[in-house]
Amino acid sequence: MTKKKIIVFTGAGISAESGIKTFRDSGGLWEEYKVEDVATPEAWENDPAMVLSFYNKRRKQVMEAQPNTAHHALVELEKKFDVHIITQNIDDLHERAGSKKVMHLHGEIIKSRSSVDPDLTYMIKGWEINIGEKCVKGSQLRPHIVWFGESVPQMEDAGNLAAKADIFIIVGTSLNVYPAAGLVDFVPHNTPKYLIDPQAVSKDYISNITVKKEKAGIGVPELVKKLLI
Ligand code: NAD
Repeated sequence: MTKKKIIVFTGAGISAESGIKTFRDSGGLWEEYKVEDVATPEAWENDPAMVLSFYNKRRKQVMEAQPNTAHHALVELEKKFDVHIITQNIDDLHERAGSKKVMHLHGEIIKSRSSVDPDLTYMIKGWEINIGEKCVKGSQLRPHIVWFGESVPQMEDAGNLAAKADIFIIVGTSLNVYPAAGLVDFVPHNTPKYLIDPQAVSKDYISNITVKKEKAGIGVPELVKKLLI
């Protein structure tokens, strides 16, 4: 018998209890930087050393963090369901918890990328990318991150997956960052949807949704337990 398909759409909130700050929780400042100073193509053009230094610090923080009970609970779901995680997060906590199918809409902080060929990516050895480190085509390596103002290459694949969801679970996202936040529009009207986020505001525009105003570390294991019965 084919397993039912669960699509889990995660945002920064699922990693908050692992000690990785969400963008909003730091009051619009992301680790003391303005987003436009560090997470845009213009920033890279103006000051690549500062951009590298910002992401190096974040990478170090991610490498020191551990998956939490929410990441682990989602792995349990694979016992009964065909689970696909679509994450806005750049950390690798879903993979380290053991989730098998993870799509990163906004890139992966543990990888570097050629600045002339987006298909040329590398696993970073250690925690830093430095000025002078180049791809095989001779261009400076940049973080493998989708910056504000850049397109989200996997959006179409993500939409196609979301359209096949038998159950759709949203965890720890303000649903503010587009186009990723538009993913819910692809999910069939009748598909049961769940949202787990302590700040969850009115999501009346999403059909057939159950909202749990709860931290991921509590709300996700509870939901997983219910779905596994
Ligand atoms: P976001 O828009 O996904 O908002 C964070 C959400 O997490 C908020 O709704 C907040 O209420 C919720 N939240 C806070 N603590 C939570 C908890 N314990 N359990 C469940 N939910 C919780 O994301 P953002 O922070 O506004 O960031 C914007 C973009 O920046 C993201 O789309 C992502 O690409 C990137 N980002 C990634 C990481 C990461 O990789 N861990 C961290 C910060 C930002």
